[in-house]
Amino acid sequence: NSTTEDKERIINPIERPRVTQDLSENVILTTVDDLYNWARLSSLWPLLFGTACCFIEFAALIGSRFDFDRFGLIPRSSPRQADLIITAGTITMKMAPQLVRLYEQMPEPKYVIAMGACTITGGMFSVDSPTAVRGVDKLIPVDVYLPGCPPRPEAIIDAIIKLRKKIANDSMQERSLIKQTHRYYSTTHN
Ligand code: SF4
Repeated sequence: NSTTEDKERIINPIERPRVTQDLSENVILTTVDDLYNWARLSSLWPLLFGTACCFIEFAALIGSRFDFDRFGLIPRSSPRQADLIITAGTITMKMAPQLVRLYEQMPEPKYVIAMGACTITGGMFSVDSPTAVRGVDKLIPVDVYLPGCPPRPEAIIDAIIKLRKKIANDSMQERSLIKQTHRYYSTTHN
């Protein structure tokens, strides 16, 4: 005769450590990753980086109507104070080294949102322009792709929320492995 506990074990073959009632009521169980992630997702500081018309929508987001700051996002002018870059607009070949340099000047951990068709694929310049970069992810690793021409401020907020969810499940160890395997523009072209 199998007990309820045995049945549970069959359904969930991986046994989890049991937490006593006293412990679960009095102690907040968490991990360093969770605490670290919570702090980072609550205070993302984006670098101001606009190269074309997409940035107008980003600028609207900073105003009182959309109140960007309520997410803890404070735009910065220095890459050394930023942990997020929203690439808003077309990236040209001439600008590529500067973008990579700014990215490398940002302290870890850092994130990238590719905003708009031009940034993601080269957009309307992808057909016959000799100067447009066909995808910013050829230069730096992208965490969230935000399509549109241009994406509206509400869509940018949606991308921020997606990034926050991603950060909430981040693992420092896995992230450093991804970074090590990404071939940066600067390392492949120097
Ligand atoms: Fe301008 Fe559209 Fe390109 Fe954004 S995606 S930079 S709005 S042309």
